[in-house]
Amino acid sequence: MTNRDSSSTTTQHAGSAGGDPAYARPHKNRSPVGAATPASAVNMGSGGAAAHGDQLDSMLGSLQSDMNRQGVSTKTKGLCAACNKPVVSQMITALGKVWHVEHFTCAHCKMTLGTMSFYEREGKAYCEQDYHNLFAPRCAYCSGPITDKCVTALDKTWHPEHFFCGFCGCNFGDQGFHERDGQAYCREDFLKMFAPKCGGCGQPINDSYISALNRHWHPECFVCWDCQRPFGNMSFFDHDGLPYCEQHYHAKRGSLCADCQQPITGPSIIAMGRKFHPKHFTCAFCLKQLNNVTFKEQNNKPYCHPCFSKLFAGTKMMD
Ligand SMILES: [Zn+2]
Ligand SMILES: [Zn+2]
Ligand SMILES: [Zn+2]
Ligand SMILES: [Zn+2]
Ligand SMILES: [Zn+2]
Ligand SMILES: [Zn+2]
Ligand SMILES: [Zn+2]
Ligand SMILES: [Zn+2]
Repeated sequence: MTNRDSSSTTTQHAGSAGGDPAYARPHKNRSPVGAATPASAVNMGSGGAAAHGDQLDSMLGSLQSDMNRQGVSTKTKGLCAACNKPVVSQMITALGKVWHVEHFTCAHCKMTLGTMSFYEREGKAYCEQDYHNLFAPRCAYCSGPITDKCVTALDKTWHPEHFFCGFCGCNFGDQGFHERDGQAYCREDFLKMFAPKCGGCGQPINDSYISALNRHWHPECFVCWDCQRPFGNMSFFDHDGLPYCEQHYHAKRGSLCADCQQPITGPSIIAMGRKFHPKHFTCAFCLKQLNNVTFKEQNNKPYCHPCFSKLFAGTKMMD
């Protein structure tokens, strides 16, 4: 029993804020065991005069009637869930139980919660700070408790403002984020850093791609390296790891017919340092097919023997 408690029994009005527990004392202390304590208290409050048991009882009795007049019931409202003693007047009802105001405390720091708002978890009450510190999800970036909006990503929780692109620091727009090795990136940076690069233009590939020649390609970049024409349904040809149409593949490889300029895929005739389709290696005059052994050459053109003789024998003989 403190001075504050004892004096408050005579000076404070019932029902006032603060939940002074002194209202409960006189009632409780009418039991013989506790009778001495309020006695000394009242004595102090009334100038220190000695009080006998009868006087004390009558003083307490008048106090009792004062309180009743002020509308405070001294009837017990149940047993305090903390101390198991009766609760009279000022009480807290919380967690489905009744508490002395001063006994309704934070389960962690023991601070009196009184009428402050509190948080409940598994039947226990916590002050706001402890509740957040103990139970709020933690931000994977700052380790602080997340008490408001929470982002869940990468199997972790984050303050929304602490979940940002690992490269540019933006907070991700509608595009969302992309993950690589536990780090989040905005789409732009992710593609810059990790998207496959096009085998044609070297830029990142964001959408559909063609996989060929052990590389990825923008569809629009997968064209003949020479004429830039797309292949469509045609097959392409690999020359030094680059795609070519059939025509330019053979051109690259020197395997175009010197006569028709079309690729030679079957047998060929090599003559005069050039390649020909066999049927296109013909006499330049009569167009008869030649073989590469018996033709005659004049001015870089092939001729059959008869035509050669007819056309050039005279000149030759005149020489
Ligand atoms: Zn209590
Ligand atoms: Zn606390
Ligand atoms: Zn944070
Ligand atoms: Zn970024
Ligand atoms: Zn490209
Ligand atoms: Zn081409
Ligand atoms: Zn030809
Ligand atoms: Zn001929």
